Amino acid sequence: MEGNSLGRNIYAPKSLNELLHLREQHPDTILWSGGTALLRMQKDPVPFFERDIIHLSGVNELKKVRRTERYLEIGAGVPVKKIINVGQHILPFALAQALMSIGSPAVRNLATIGGNLGFRDGRLNSFSVLMLMDSIVELRMSGKSRWVQLGRLNSISATEVLTRIRIPFRNWDLQYFRAIGDPLLHPMDSLSFTVLAETNKGIISNLRFAVGNIGKSTLRSIDFETYLSGKKLRLSGRELETAVNIFQSFVQNIEGDLTPFQKDRSIRFVRWFLRELRDVYIFTE
Ligand SMILES: Cc1cc2nc3c(=O)[nH]c(=O)nc-3n(C[C@H](O)[C@H](O)[C@H](O)COP(=O)(O)OP(=O)(O)OC[C@H]3O[C@@H](n4cnc5c(N)ncnc54)[C@H](O)[C@@H]3O)c2cc1C
Repeated sequence: MEGNSLGRNIYAPKSLNELLHLREQHPDTILWSGGTALLRMQKDPVPFFERDIIHLSGVNELKKVRRTERYLEIGAGVPVKKIINVGQHILPFALAQALMSIGSPAVRNLATIGGNLGFRDGRLNSFSVLMLMDSIVELRMSGKSRWVQLGRLNSISATEVLTRIRIPFRNWDLQYFRAIGDPLLHPMDSLSFTVLAETNKGIISNLRFAVGNIGKSTLRSIDFETYLSGKKLRLSGRELETAVNIFQSFVQNIEGDLTPFQKDRSIRFVRWFLRELRDVYIFTE
């Protein structure tokens, strides 16, 4: 344990067991992974944290990447840059895009996937993509562990640590991610769009679409997804308009979650995306 200028004390565990034990003993501490989100949220020019810190950088168990035939498993402490470097044949394109749009190269060197998912004030870039891919996350506490579907993860308790993310491999023929704005400093003006779909002989199947980076929730319209799944590419003009209308009425009926700016941009995005899909998507199977 060391004293420092950031807060009161920094604990620097050297193993997962030590980390879980410390977390149990000191549930009021801040988990510090890359520290980029924690520092970004600091208002003072000289950062100061009121609580003690547990620094995760010495815990090697959190820094592993493993690939099996069925899934890619990423340790919570793996830096975003290293995940991007895993390569395009392994890393799903939409996830790579989501990670590439985090900060600058210097930020991505430090920023970790665990910190991106562990951020408490809202959902950040990787959340929607990983959720749509049916990823599961491992949460550990001293003597206990649980795997949870990311989409069902409501909160991480004070004694838990997010340790691994498991992403099943699927043939997502169509993948798209785009983020607008700064989800940390300006969450009311920020937004992300993720689209995933499989196609088979020119038919869209299993289309998934989420609007994220909008605070603590992530939006999905099951009616919109169901309408498009089963449609043949290219979409007719009428199908496109119907899909936009379904999404528009979904967004307009949401109370509280989206600002007018976010509503307007999501509808525009859907229209743009469906037009691209109709006009540009060339079926190559
Ligand atoms: C200039 C700048 C621009 C940025 N732009 C973006 C952006 O556009 N999109 C975006 O998504 N992010 C952005 N970020 C934020 C940040 O870089 C990323 O979200 C990053 O992935 C956070 O990872 P970290 O390791 O630095 O997290 P940290 O700052 O260390 O932690 C973030 C939160 O997660 C918790 N946490 C960390 N690890 C764990 C764990 N293993 N288990 C449980 N909780 C944990 C921490 O306690 C803290 O609450 C930006 C940051 C900067 C500095």
